Amino acid sequence: MSAQLIDGKAVAARMRARLAEARRSIGSRAVRLVSLQVGNNPAAEVYVRNQRKAAAEVGIDMEVVGLPDAATQQDLIAAIHEHSLRSDVAGVIVQRPLPSSIDARTVQMAIDPRLDVEGMHPANMGAILYREPQFPPCTAAAAQQLILETGIDLRGAETVVVGHSEIVGKPIGLLLLHRLSTVTVCHVGTRNLMLHTRRADILVVAVGKPGLVRGDMVKPGAVVIDIGINQLVDGSIVGDCEHDSVAAVAGYLTPVPGGVGPVTVAMLLRNTLRAAGADV
Ligand code: NAP
Repeated sequence: MSAQLIDGKAVAARMRARLAEARRSIGSRAVRLVSLQVGNNPAAEVYVRNQRKAAAEVGIDMEVVGLPDAATQQDLIAAIHEHSLRSDVAGVIVQRPLPSSIDARTVQMAIDPRLDVEGMHPANMGAILYREPQFPPCTAAAAQQLILETGIDLRGAETVVVGHSEIVGKPIGLLLLHRLSTVTVCHVGTRNLMLHTRRADILVVAVGKPGLVRGDMVKPGAVVIDIGINQLVDGSIVGDCEHDSVAAVAGYLTPVPGGVGPVTVAMLLRNTLRAAGADV
């Protein structure tokens, strides 16, 4: 078997076309997304450039606000408050990584939940438990969307999520649980990872360790969503799955890059339009 690659770029392009229509439907007033960044990080710069380009395509103005390397947590929180008070701002996000002197969770909690288009504020996280988050965390929503693209019936499917972080693994588990799949979440305490991954109809991997999942750990025909982003010493970007061996066994596989990443950006734009009042 050779897996069909799920083309995240194509899925994201279709989403952006739909979002552009929704954006037009709310009139000509500005829809602005403020992105705050501390210092210069080359990886974050590439990410921000991609976000800004995608936002422009949809008709969202992404305003990038740079704070100096030396900015403190208080400076960043003050900037969040300042931009949150503007009537033209629909969403506020903070780019990572942040300097070690700044606590990401404290900063995230300083964002008004109504402007939290990344869906990371505890109020929005908590809404996932009640099934209808207005702003689902973007990567979790992207993973779910890519699974749905395969047409697999989620009800009753054995789903294994590897990684249990607050912003990726846990919310994915909950989103898929709401669709009545049978969800197992694996983590560092899992005794025998392969035992779980081999029985997964849907396998979602979000750890940040290249080669963690090999083909012999995958059920033939499974849908595999590789969320990991890892930069190797030669500069290349790979996921958490060993691409060739997994592709030889799986039914569907997301490539890295070009899988979850572009759809994550599209989800951010969708959340921003929701914050601006669009019905998307
Ligand atoms: P994270 O906060 O570091 O979480 C990683 C998770 O993996 C933790 O729950 C960790 O458990 C678990 N883990 C570590 N080693 C493990 C192992 N050997 N077996 C099973 N679980 C293990 O990272 P994250 O923010 O969730 O991101 C995960 C990956 O996705 C990263 O590569 C990140 O770059 C990527 N990512 C991609 C996108 C995208 O748009 N494509 C977006 C966000 C993140 P403990 O906490 O118990 O150690």
